[in-house]
Amino acid sequence: MPELPETETIARDIDGAIRDRKITGVSVRKADVLREVSPPTLARRLAGARIVRSWRRAKLVVIDLDTGDRIVVQPRFTGALLIDDGSLDATELKYSTVRLDLDDGRALHYADVRRLGTFALMDERRFHEYSEKLGIEPLDRTFTGAHLSGIVRATSQPVKKLLMDQRKIAGIGNIYANEALWRAQIDPSRPAASISLEEAELLRDSIVGVLSEAIDARGTSFRDYRDARGKRGSFVEKLDVYGRSGEPCHRCGSKLVATHAIDGRATTMCVKCQH
Ligand SMILES: [Zn+2]
Repeated sequence: MPELPETETIARDIDGAIRDRKITGVSVRKADVLREVSPPTLARRLAGARIVRSWRRAKLVVIDLDTGDRIVVQPRFTGALLIDDGSLDATELKYSTVRLDLDDGRALHYADVRRLGTFALMDERRFHEYSEKLGIEPLDRTFTGAHLSGIVRATSQPVKKLLMDQRKIAGIGNIYANEALWRAQIDPSRPAASISLEEAELLRDSIVGVLSEAIDARGTSFRDYRDARGKRGSFVEKLDVYGRSGEPCHRCGSKLVATHAIDGRATTMCVKCQH
């Protein structure tokens, strides 16, 4: 499932490729991916709209239009935004659910094999209301160690679970929660409230570091994730713990262990370094 770095990669690619283009036509092949809008309304509100900017909020790709509307795509497991300039073949377009024709002859597709992702249209007011319920952006300047300390102090749930709570901090999922906690040498099962200010500073730096490096590598690829160019990200080669259970810790050489006991998800950690 794409997390912050993968979604950021998709949004940046899309932005570079379709900024200032006008939408000339809309066709919906699988309406079950649509949220907050029906196919006829989507077609009516998008026709003639110009794409102002594409960006990321949490794990969402947001496409701003000059009409004030926003296309909000949540790729979840197998969703992908693909630009067809005539080079995509039938296999790649087989899972297209929504196609937007652009004024330069290309088309933007939202393709989704399992159709667990969503494609929504929101006006400005509705988007703000939706966005307000999401947590702070970890790459925002306001996400300081002191801010994180305030968040962790308010709950006794395991710190790993807290990092993945989208209402508190946006964009971190299982991969980057595992990685950040290993970097900060914090036991993922520790009650969040027991994290000191000093540890919160270190954890904040670890989160920002791992997310930034992953963006530079165009994300981590597992199974289905592809960026807008249909390519896989390369951060998978730089992971320290995620998917490395049984392999040696890059810091101390101990064998990494995996557990599902913390939040039902795979947590991989070094029991020697993270205590
Ligand atoms: Zn270790």
